[in-house]
Amino acid sequence: MRPSDSTRAAPQATASVHAVVLNVNGIEVIYNHVILVLKGVSLQVPQGQIAAILGGNGAGKTTTLRSICGILPIQRGTVRIAGVDLVQREREAKQNLAWIPDDPQPFETLTVHEHLRFHAALYGVEAWQSHGDRLLERFELAHKRDALGGELSRGMRQKLALACAWLHQPRVVLMDEPLSGLDPRGIRSAKLAIQELAASGSAVVLSTHLLGLIEELAHRILILDNGRKIFEGTLDQARGSLSVAPGSSLEEIFFAVTQPPPAP
Ligand code: ATP
Repeated sequence: MRPSDSTRAAPQATASVHAVVLNVNGIEVIYNHVILVLKGVSLQVPQGQIAAILGGNGAGKTTTLRSICGILPIQRGTVRIAGVDLVQREREAKQNLAWIPDDPQPFETLTVHEHLRFHAALYGVEAWQSHGDRLLERFELAHKRDALGGELSRGMRQKLALACAWLHQPRVVLMDEPLSGLDPRGIRSAKLAIQELAASGSAVVLSTHLLGLIEELAHRILILDNGRKIFEGTLDQARGSLSVAPGSSLEEIFFAVTQPPPAP
């Protein structure tokens, strides 16, 4: 029987040393020069740990991830990847980073295998071929090795993005809704791969609405509401520090601390 939310054991970090490799400190993001979307969000993730960002639609999850990976400029605050400041030493910081958006768009005219070659060249990975072939097997893309990016289904595009991200063994991996679009076999293989990536020492940050996934995989959670950090820490710490009943499930915590969207 599936254990209840409140009794399920929290995932244990397997890496023995827990140096913080992702340090996000008080970031603010403005859209269209006026709308303040992120209001001082902070997040610290040690190596070997999986952090999940949760919040309702429009809470700021994707904006947070896109800011951490340097796609969206931040107006205030800092992001450090493996100790390297993202703004001041962008290229060096990004060497240690992988970003998997929720609907990856591969190059239409490159094959699956050429994407791996391109990614390896971009990140300076040598002797990547056998590792690349293993990744294609693992993500069930070996039969699509010579298919063009434009010929892949959404789930296959996602699997290709996962394979590319795994190739350069980044210290920090950011994933926006990593399981959406995957079939059950793909979900199982992605969950295992995420756990293995963390076990090998990477810090993984993912956003998801799947609370069961968070309880299964995440060591830490960041709850956002309307662009503000409501909580960051372990699920047990959330039960202890938020005004919720002892033993509350993550779902109960979520509804207790987040607000529905305002009426029009
Ligand atoms: P969801 O769960 O729906 O994916 P989210 O938590 O990822 O939501 P974001 O996409 O980060 O939310 O959006 C946060 C806020 O920023 C929302 O109010 C949204 O309307 C706004 N926003 C997002 N993208 C833009 C944009 N390009 N221009 C202006 N505002 C934007």
